[in-house]
Amino acid sequence: MPLLIKGGRIITAQDDYEADIYCADELITAIGHDLDVPADTEVIDASGKYVFPGFIDPHVHIHLPFMGTFAKDTHSTASIAALYGGTTSYIEMVCPNRSEDTLEGYNLWKGMADGNSACDYTFHMAVSKFNDDTAAQLREIVADGITSFKVFLAYKGFFGVEDDELYETLKLAKELGVITTAHCENAELVAQLCDELLAAGKTGPEWHEPSRPTRVEAEGTGHFASFLELTGAAGYVVHLSCEAALKAAVDAKLRGVELYVESVIPHFCFDKTFAERPNFEGAKWIMSPPLREKSNQKALWDGLRMGLIDTVATDHCPFDIDQKAMGREAFTAIPNGIPAIGDRVNMLYTYGVSRGDLSLKRFVESASTKAAEIFGLTQKGRIAVGADADLVVFDPSYRGVVSMKDHHVNNDYCGFEGFEQDGKPTDVTVRGQVAIRDGVFVGDTSRGRLIRRTPAY
Ligand SMILES: [Zn+2]
Repeated sequence: MPLLIKGGRIITAQDDYEADIYCADELITAIGHDLDVPADTEVIDASGKYVFPGFIDPHVHIHLPFMGTFAKDTHSTASIAALYGGTTSYIEMVCPNRSEDTLEGYNLWKGMADGNSACDYTFHMAVSKFNDDTAAQLREIVADGITSFKVFLAYKGFFGVEDDELYETLKLAKELGVITTAHCENAELVAQLCDELLAAGKTGPEWHEPSRPTRVEAEGTGHFASFLELTGAAGYVVHLSCEAALKAAVDAKLRGVELYVESVIPHFCFDKTFAERPNFEGAKWIMSPPLREKSNQKALWDGLRMGLIDTVATDHCPFDIDQKAMGREAFTAIPNGIPAIGDRVNMLYTYGVSRGDLSLKRFVESASTKAAEIFGLTQKGRIAVGADADLVVFDPSYRGVVSMKDHHVNNDYCGFEGFEQDGKPTDVTVRGQVAIRDGVFVGDTSRGRLIRRTPAY
């Protein structure tokens, strides 16, 4: 059924104006006033509301075997939670570990998502080892439309690559015209500091941050940037958490390195005191890089406003309280990760736009358009004739408090519990079909499609 979104204030990365949007055959086909539409058109009244392009989360984990367990979501639960929160596309990390076959991993993840997601998606392909076989397989995967890699400088021996493998991966990325995303923490420093802390009896979740201090991340960021500089490849730092790492990234940008920066919503909202909560409650907020001293949050907000940070993602990765308890004896065994796929847009709007100094356009750019540009999602992240009709009608007058009872992620806690929230999506479309209507999921968990991309670097 064709769809008319009427009377809303359209906000994109470039524009801010009032108009109606007409969608047919999955696309935006007209934008204007007094549009001539067929009689059977479904109408959403957006008066008094914003209309945003569907938001894009460029960093999520759904299927993930990690630290002896599995992240909790399915593609169905994660995509429904995403849509409730205004996210209409996500990029999942395909993460086979070092002992697994790269192409088999890709096919496994692709098969799990296929037919099980309510919104569109694509993948970053993790390179956890590099040899001639891997190179041939990566060529095949890129030819299948996956034009971004992921490397881990941390988690050596499991997901992480050695420096010679990093070099070869980036050379291949450069040759194929794909971008490489990277988890930037120096693995050796983390290993040494963890051993020292545990040997000193410092085993609680509050010791996770001291085991990977900001300098460890700044070193990893600078390390990655050096490899980009010497191979000429394009790169993207995931989940940058602190001022020291941001300085390392900006230093590389100033040298002309093609480097983009992502930060994730937990680091904007939580400081390290959350992970220091007593009675092991802090384990809920254990992620890597860890939550930081509060002063780093100002650097992230400033960096985002100024465009030094390009995108805001989640690193969504839910583990429940029982799983977190695997690390009761040692913080190094606490599964790293926090659910956030449904909270990102609302928290960024609340604390960035409504209560901060982030402009509406920059909000849209950092939570949608820029990710589309960097990762080649050419049909997403914009409101224009011919683009996919992924749209978010957003009520800025809503006031509420984040609560588990409104959550749709498959997990038993929410890190944002009790946070005040300004505004929320009321209606969300996936290629012209309404998936959230008046705040209720009415979509189809088999509608989501794999977005195939073409190399652009
Ligand atoms: Zn991640």
